[in-house]
Amino acid sequence: MSAIADAASSAPARETVRVALGERAYDIVIGRGVAAEAGARAAALGARAVALVTDDTVAELHAEAVRNGVAAAGLRAELVTVPSGEGSKSYATLARVCDAILAQRIERGDLVLALGGGVVGDLAGFAAAIVRRGVRFVQMPTTLLAQVDSSVGGKTGINSAHGKNLVGAFHQPSLVLADTALLDTLCERELRAGYAEIVKYGLIDDAAFFAWCEANGAAVLAGGPERERAVAHSCRAKAAIVARDEREEGDRALLNLGHTFAHALERLAHYDPSILVHGEAVAAGLALAFRFSAMLGLCAPADAERVERHLAATGLPTTLQAFAGLSPDPERLLDAMAQDKKVVAGQLTFILARGVGNSFIAKGVDVAAVRTFLARECAGGGR
Ligand code: NAD
Repeated sequence: MSAIADAASSAPARETVRVALGERAYDIVIGRGVAAEAGARAAALGARAVALVTDDTVAELHAEAVRNGVAAAGLRAELVTVPSGEGSKSYATLARVCDAILAQRIERGDLVLALGGGVVGDLAGFAAAIVRRGVRFVQMPTTLLAQVDSSVGGKTGINSAHGKNLVGAFHQPSLVLADTALLDTLCERELRAGYAEIVKYGLIDDAAFFAWCEANGAAVLAGGPERERAVAHSCRAKAAIVARDEREEGDRALLNLGHTFAHALERLAHYDPSILVHGEAVAAGLALAFRFSAMLGLCAPADAERVERHLAATGLPTTLQAFAGLSPDPERLLDAMAQDKKVVAGQLTFILARGVGNSFIAKGVDVAAVRTFLARECAGGGR
């Protein structure tokens, strides 16, 4: 049963965050029940038809309610459903989604609506970027991770055998509708995974927010006003960075804190959710980034311990050993990192930290130091 109708019946508290990108500016509307407005908002954007891209889990839970809402606003709305999971960020699924959008006669004035987690958002957004050389799209994120991170900022794409997110495009959505009531159906594991990306904003440049997370993390996971507050705060943080650096020529790379490690872990795990999901890899990546910073003498070991303590307290993994079924090996991890797109002229770029809320872009990081660190972590010396 969808939570949309229930949530819409009580007056929703909402917040709107503007992503200030000139002619590509858009709103992120956050609150319980905002999904019920999808039709009216799509109509206000001038669309006559909507291709509603979703995955099979979300299709069962929420897609009919959204489709009915869009149809009630007088728009043609048809579903495109892909299998749940990271495997759908593939060439084969992209081709199928593009063809389905074309079969639905979606024109440039119409909309692709991505209803799902980061996988659906990245995939549908990329399809929207390339079908007819670009049609508009709306993000309706249904996971905590997607609401606080992936639906904002216009990075879209799929994975290649060479690594994660290596094929894609910048394509900003025209609107993000983040209905926090949709998170009521999300399992605890995925909620926790999304929480890792919330913590990340505190670690990047907002020590006060990290302290707030330490005090309120459990409440964010439990639901209620703290969750909405965390989503809105995260969206404001991301919107500010994206507005400063839309195409990641500078500051935006800070959002990759923990991600060089995380992407390598995901690659080693073959994106197998029985081993790890993206947000869990990010949690371990954050802990690793801080321990690496401590090993390099950049931050106090106490800071790394504090980060690890909070992530562990919310049930998130902080070491390589936390992933049953992963066989971490320093050389394979290093190899996976070298394929990451943050490699410039053969040198590794990491986001490192001088402390909680004080992260920076470290270019030309010494590969020997990375190797030493990974060997220590693989041997279980991270804790
Ligand atoms: P996901 O999209 O795979 O969703 C996780 C699981 O939750 C899936 O099984 C999905 O079917 C299910 N689900 C989704 N919404 C649900 C709901 N409301 N109720 C019940 N189940 C639900 O994973 P994710 O964590 O949302 O996103 C991870 C992806 O996001 C990765 O591919 C990552 O690379 C990408 N990402 C992109 C950006 C960006 O800027 N574009 C940023 C961060 C992450």
